[in-house]
Amino acid sequence: MNHIKAVLFDLDNTILDRTRTFDRFTNLFIQNYFQNMESTQDIFNRIIELDQDGYKDTLIQHGKINQLGIRDDFDLIIVSEEAGIKKPDPGIFNMALEKLQLEPKECIFVGDHPVNDIEGAAKAGMETIWIQVNQPWRDEITAKPLHSIRKVGELLEIL
Ligand SMILES: [Mg+2]
Repeated sequence: MNHIKAVLFDLDNTILDRTRTFDRFTNLFIQNYFQNMESTQDIFNRIIELDQDGYKDTLIQHGKINQLGIRDDFDLIIVSEEAGIKKPDPGIFNMALEKLQLEPKECIFVGDHPVNDIEGAAKAGMETIWIQVNQPWRDEITAKPLHSIRKVGELLEIL
């Protein structure tokens, strides 16, 4: 795989193990922004609910990235709510390619969602790696990931 110059990652359920880190993040978020409120349980519940609905607030997405302490580990971070375009629209993958000054064939995209990540990246011309978490594969998807893995750590053996 030495033609690969960049590995692009989805965040939720790919880099971020949501079940383990999201509660912790939400608690810190509330401490930082809502510390003067008497009861924060409602806010906590609402944040969890919104996140599970797929609602992604820019502040929450950046908060998660900071919480993970990974901001400096990446050359580029795109938050779709800021970009005004979201996966699986190939436009967001093209935006990343443009910013990185790379061709699709020089990149590999790693994500958990068959449509948003695998099909979206494939439509933008990238090879993909599917991380199987809790999104089932769908028969209508024609994209074929190069590999299917269960944990991000398995990438070390592949790349
Ligand atoms: Mg995901």
